[in-house]
Amino acid sequence: MNAATIIDYLNMSDPSDLFAKAKQIKAETVGNKVYLRGLIEYSNRCAKDCYYCGIRVSNTNVCRYDVDDQSVLDAAEYAWRKGFGSIVLQSGERKSREFTLRIETLLNQIMTLTNHEIGITLSLGEQDEDTYKRWQDAGAKRYLLRIETSNRTLYEKLHPKNHDYDARLKCLETLKNLNYQVGTGVMIGLPFQTLEHLAEDLQFFQTMDVDMVGMGPYIEHVDTPLYSIKNHVSTPLDVQLRWLSEVEATKLKKQNRLDLTLKMIALLRIQMPTINIAATTALQTLDPFGREKAIEIGANIIMPNLTPLKYRENYFLYDGKTVVKDTFDDTIADLEVRLAQIGAEIGYNQHGDSLHFKSKP
Ligand code: SAH
Repeated sequence: MNAATIIDYLNMSDPSDLFAKAKQIKAETVGNKVYLRGLIEYSNRCAKDCYYCGIRVSNTNVCRYDVDDQSVLDAAEYAWRKGFGSIVLQSGERKSREFTLRIETLLNQIMTLTNHEIGITLSLGEQDEDTYKRWQDAGAKRYLLRIETSNRTLYEKLHPKNHDYDARLKCLETLKNLNYQVGTGVMIGLPFQTLEHLAEDLQFFQTMDVDMVGMGPYIEHVDTPLYSIKNHVSTPLDVQLRWLSEVEATKLKKQNRLDLTLKMIALLRIQMPTINIAATTALQTLDPFGREKAIEIGANIIMPNLTPLKYRENYFLYDGKTVVKDTFDDTIADLEVRLAQIGAEIGYNQHGDSLHFKSKP
């Protein structure tokens, strides 16, 4: 799809034809199975200072934590016993020999504990090749590293000078060369982000030939620099916000980001029919049924949060992030019902690897 066509779709007020096409392609390729990745938010300590993120190093209002090793192992064992198939270890970004070693040890322990059956995805930021290799040797199969926005100029606007777009890109290349299943993604609705940028993002996923994508709406966090420009208008959809009251504008802005994210997911499913696409937590923050809506029109992965409750509220990437207080069992039972309502079902005891990756030579 060329950029002009993508932009036309993103501008469309009635995307029902687009959604119907995406649904059909999804049914013919990845089908109605939804694979679970139990998400363990391992640590909110972060060396980076991204202008949008609640756990940025300069935010002193955060209580910093590392999940203790036993709790990580317990969460992994729970996921395995429940037939989740996979877990994701995610954390703020830290590069040190000690961190590399700690994760390596945990990976080895998780593999032993789960009889080498659980699939492990990492989302631990930019690291050097040696670290990626060691973690892979210890059992990690997939890596998620969002480019955040594929447009270099916009990237530079949203990050301090010492955050390097090329370095992030290089990490994605390194991961690909190591033969990880590689996932990337972007935030949607960022200040200064235009529909042209989003079209570029879709083309970036294709050019990078990624196996997985996780993209979600950008949501302001009060303790970040970007909060002060929360009323910034960038896409044509947002122009009407100018004439609304604060309350109405906030509501419409959320709706616009949700709509845009769903359109992006549908377009991506049409463009890359066999990749894995996540229905992200941020979608659920904007709409209680946001993830199910995404599954209906293209996504096939859900990442239920398995972070121990005592740490959970400190992994606050953006305002209003869902902090489920139900037991894990209740959350999964609820998810099953919700998915059944849209004709989808959980693929238990399967890794749910990216078909796109499996078909590579
Ligand atoms: N350190 C890891 C993971 C970081 S947090 C890494 O560098 O990849 C995971 C994701 O949360 C980020 O990649 C970013 O896309 C998302 N995120 C951060 N702040 C956000 C915000 N304000 N709104 C929506 N998503 C946000």
